[in-house]
Amino acid sequence: MLKLLKIFCLVGLLAFALIRCTNVSFPKVFQSASDSVEKLFVPASPRDTYEKGLRRAKLDKTTAGQAWLDAGERALNDSLVVGLPFRETGVFPLEIPLAYSYRVNVPAGRRLVARVSVPKRTDTRPLDARRGETKPDTTFRMFVDLFELKDNGKPKRVSFAQNGEAISRESTEETTFLLRVQPQLQQRGQFMITLENQPLLSFPVAGKKYENLISFWGAARDGGQRLHEGIDVAAPRGTPVVAAADGIVSQVTTNRLGGLVIYQQDTEHDLTLYYAHLDRQLTTPGQRVKRGDTLGLVGNTGNAVTTGPHLHFGVYQNFRGATDPLPYVDTRGSVPAPVTANTTRLGGWMRTLPSWIAFRKSPRTSASAALSLPKNTVLRPLAATQNWYRVALPDGTQGYLQAAQVQHVGQRISKRTLTSTQPLLAALTPQTDTLDVLTVNERVNVLGQFGGYQLVETPDRNGRLMTGWMRDGK
Ligand SMILES: [Zn+2]
Repeated sequence: MLKLLKIFCLVGLLAFALIRCTNVSFPKVFQSASDSVEKLFVPASPRDTYEKGLRRAKLDKTTAGQAWLDAGERALNDSLVVGLPFRETGVFPLEIPLAYSYRVNVPAGRRLVARVSVPKRTDTRPLDARRGETKPDTTFRMFVDLFELKDNGKPKRVSFAQNGEAISRESTEETTFLLRVQPQLQQRGQFMITLENQPLLSFPVAGKKYENLISFWGAARDGGQRLHEGIDVAAPRGTPVVAAADGIVSQVTTNRLGGLVIYQQDTEHDLTLYYAHLDRQLTTPGQRVKRGDTLGLVGNTGNAVTTGPHLHFGVYQNFRGATDPLPYVDTRGSVPAPVTANTTRLGGWMRTLPSWIAFRKSPRTSASAALSLPKNTVLRPLAATQNWYRVALPDGTQGYLQAAQVQHVGQRISKRTLTSTQPLLAALTPQTDTLDVLTVNERVNVLGQFGGYQLVETPDRNGRLMTGWMRDGK
C-alpha cells in the first residue's frame, strides 16, 4: 500500500508540473492568425494539449497515465444515452480513473446547450465512505469535449469547453452528439452537468406561445388533398407578427392560399421563413430584420377568410423543402428535472437490494436492460439524475439503475471464516494491488459480491478496517 502511495505522489507531482506548463492560452495562436488559416485548422482542445504534455512527460508510460488515456478512449465507445433536458450531479473519485460520456439525440430545429461545472456549495459529507481522505481539490478542472456522431458512428469533435463554460450546438437536422467529461490526471471532485434543448427560432407572434397553436404540421387540408405545411397560431387581429430570426425580407406579396404574406431569409440557419394570412405587411423586400422586429399584423387573409385571425408560419430548409416548424419555436420542457436521489454517498460502495434488478443504458424504465444484477451486487454510484444513479460495476461497466434499489454497504450481509489462504485485492482490475494476504481461520465481514468475488471487510495490522476483494470460496 505504501509503495502505491509513493507512486501516486510521484505521478501527482509530475501531473501538477504538467498542469503548470500546459495552462498556456491555446487559442491565442489562432486569434492572431488570418481568417483563412482559422478555417483550415480546428484549434486543439485543452484536453488535446494536456494529453500531448502528458506524453511529452512520458506519463503515458505510467499505470496512472495509461489508465487516464484508456478511460478517455473508452468513454467514446461506451457512452450512456440520455434524453433532453438533462441534469446530473456526480463525482470523480480519486481511486478510479474515469471519464463520463453522454450520448444525446437533438431533433432538427433545436440547439443543444451543454454546461459542466463544479457545484458552488461543496457537499459537507465525504465523497465516499472511506476514512482519512483529503478534502476535494479546489483546483479541480475538467475537460469537456463535444463530438458529433456521424452515420459511421465515428465521433468527430465539434466543440469543447472548460469548467462552467457552456457549449452550444445548433442543428437543422436530427443529430446525435456525444459529450465527454474528464478531469485532469488523478484529480477528484464534484461536477454538475446540464444539457438543455432550446428552440432555434423565436416565437413568431408577439406574446404568444405553444398554448396558442390551433393547427399543427401534417394536418389534412382541402379534404385531405394536401397536408398542412406549417403551424397556425391564433391571436387577435392586429397582434404583431415578429421576425423569428435575424435575416433579410425576401418577398412581400399576395397569394391565393396565404393572402398577404412575407418571406424572410433566415441568415442564421439557412432557412426560409413564411408568414401568411397577414392583416397588414409592415416591411419591404430587401429589408434587414432582427429577431423580434415587427414584420406585419395578424389577420385572416387568403383562405383563412372563413376562420378567425391567425398566423400561418412555415419553415423551409433551403434546397430541402418544408419542415415542421414546431421544434424550431417550442419553448416547453427546456428546464431539466431536479436530482432527487441521495447524493451524499456518491463514489462509495453500495449494493443492490431486490433479487434481480435491471442495469440500463438510459435513466428510463422504458430503456432495455443491458444486464440483470443479482441481489447484493456491489457497485459504485457515481452520479445522480432525478431518482436514478449512474453506477460503475467493479469491472468498470457503467449504467443506470433506480436509486431506491441500492443501499450502502455499511452493514455486513454475512461473516466468513477462511478455510484457505487468500489474497485481498484492492480492485477487480487486471493491474490491481494486493492489499494483504489473509490466512486460514481469519474472519471477515462480507459486504457484497460481484463476478465470483466478495467485497469483504477485515481489520488490518493496526486494527483499522480495510476493504478489499477475495474469491467467493464456493
Ligand atoms: Zn396554416
